[in-house]
This record gives sequence, C-alpha cells and structure tokens, in this order.
Amino acid sequence: MVNANVMALLAHGSINYEGVPGGTPQLTAEDVAGALGMGSLPREAYLLGLLKYAEDKTVLHELDRLVQEYVIGVGVKEGWREPWPKEKKRSLMFFKQFARLMINEIVDENICKSCNGTGIFSHSKLIRKCNCTNGKKALSKLKQAKFCNINHQAWNERWYERYSHCLKQIHVWHASVIFHLINHI
Ligand SMILES: [Zn+2]
Repeated sequence: MVNANVMALLAHGSINYEGVPGGTPQLTAEDVAGALGMGSLPREAYLLGLLKYAEDKTVLHELDRLVQEYVIGVGVKEGWREPWPKEKKRSLMFFKQFARLMINEIVDENICKSCNGTGIFSHSKLIRKCNCTNGKKALSKLKQAKFCNINHQAWNERWYERYSHCLKQIHVWHASVIFHLINHI
C-alpha cells in the first residue's frame, strides 16, 4: 500500500491527493523504511519517519520514550519545576503526554477535522470557507492542557511556552526525515 503521506511528500507537501501526478512511483512501506534506514538519521527522526511515512506503529513506544527524555532534558537544563514535585509518577506521565502531543502534531499535521484539510466546510447544502487556516487547525490550548492532564491556567502560564519551544526540535527531526526521504527514494 502506498502511504498517502509519502505521496503528499512527493507532491511537494500537497495534502489534496487529487493533485498527485500519475507518474509517481508506487512505493511500499518497505521502500520507505529502507530509505529511512540508509545513512544516519538521528534515532528520533528515524522512528518518527517510520511512524509517519511507513505507518509503523510499533515504534511509538520507543519514540514516546525518546521524545519524553528530550523534553525532560530541556527541563533539567532550563531549571523547570516538575508539575507535581511530590508525585514523580504523575509528573512523568505529564511529560509522556507532552511528548505524545508533540509527536501527534507531526503525524497528524494539525489537519482540520471540520473540513478534512480541504479548507472548505460543507454540510448538506451549506458550503463555505472553513474557519481554519488552509485546512490546518492546531489544538486549542485548552485541549492541549486536557491531553496533558494539567489545569488550563498552568498550561497557559507556564507549559504552553515550553511546549512551543520543545516543538521546534521535533520539527527539526521531521525536516531531516523529509530531506532524507527526498534524497533516498
Ligand atoms: Zn477546516
């Protein structure tokens, strides 16, 4: 099966699959996994690539752990206070969800659920421009907070900014995956 993400990648990031030209090579998940394995991608990028472009969900466990370690590493360096200093397990779970939120942003690309990424909202006879940005809609801060099981105010005041900061690194890993695939497929 050809992974739609790879097709989109080869069509220069278009998410409207109708626009994919007919001459695109028929790639399998194995081709993509093989290409990712060539050269030396950082482990996080390699796993992210397998998850997103080869739809290999078995890597999620390790990727969760590595991204969580990355986040905690940033926290240690920047002297964050754990959300629940007396409840280590709860704090660790928070960082795990925090990391998973980062992974989800890359894998789902914040595709708007109202219009399925088309940018056009249609419901029975009503057709209008969707109130997202070109088919993309990031999770609200409230939903992010809920996902991480932390109160909304703490997320807004402290964690959202840290999250945005950490997100840059996962975008760097993702960019290296794209660069790698374009060069090895
Ligand atoms: Zn939309």
